[in-house]
Amino acid sequence: MSDYSMSDSARRAAEAARGFMPPDEGLALFDAAMTAAKLNPQKPFIEIGSYCGRSSIYLGEAARQSDTVLFAVDHHRGSEENQPGWEWHEPDLVDEDTGRMDTLPWFRRAVFHAGLEPWVIAVVGDSPTSGRWLDMDFGFVFIDGGHGVEPAALDYRTWTPKVVPGGILAIHDVFTDPALGGQAPYEQIYLPAVESGRFEPVAVTGSLRTLRRVA
Ligand code: SAH
Ligand code: MG
Repeated sequence: MSDYSMSDSARRAAEAARGFMPPDEGLALFDAAMTAAKLNPQKPFIEIGSYCGRSSIYLGEAARQSDTVLFAVDHHRGSEENQPGWEWHEPDLVDEDTGRMDTLPWFRRAVFHAGLEPWVIAVVGDSPTSGRWLDMDFGFVFIDGGHGVEPAALDYRTWTPKVVPGGILAIHDVFTDPALGGQAPYEQIYLPAVESGRFEPVAVTGSLRTLRRVA
């Protein structure tokens, strides 16, 4: 049972948005962000990898209820695994003009229809580059960007130092069994976070893991 609850309209909007966040994991994400905001009021949230805005709605709703904001970082060109010929490609997301993936229009519509524009600030750009210049700390950091070894390792190095002490780090698509999914979020983000001694595991919901920054 959750301590917090989303508005019905936000929940419906999240489920109607395109994306890769199952409803139970989305609700766990919402809960984790609400908890983070209680622990560290006045700190913003950030997500890496928004795609068409589904997770952004779960987190934007938590930001709305907590009087903070969500920064939603994505270059909107898709991860390696979203490109033509790869497992997670959706052909209608290719922009005819550029010939490249473009999820930004979908993201904008999803956040608009959820009524969350005041609480969701899109950062349209490359994750490590954005992180180099966004000189802030965050009460809640959600990493769901590129799932190759190198992008995951870069996201670990870029974003985990920006979790405020006592804040929450959430990681999506963490699979300990290679038969169930790629290993990079587990090996390049989750394990190094725990082994660093800076983070302690809090909860597991499907492939979503949350940790608390303790040092
Ligand atoms: N959280 C989303 C799914 C994210 S899919 C949901 O709830 O459905 C992964 C996203 O990460 C893609 O949209 C891709 O464009 C983005 N991404 C991958 N590598 C990136 C990088 N280096 N910089 C910015 N965004 C990146
Ligand atoms: Mg994911």
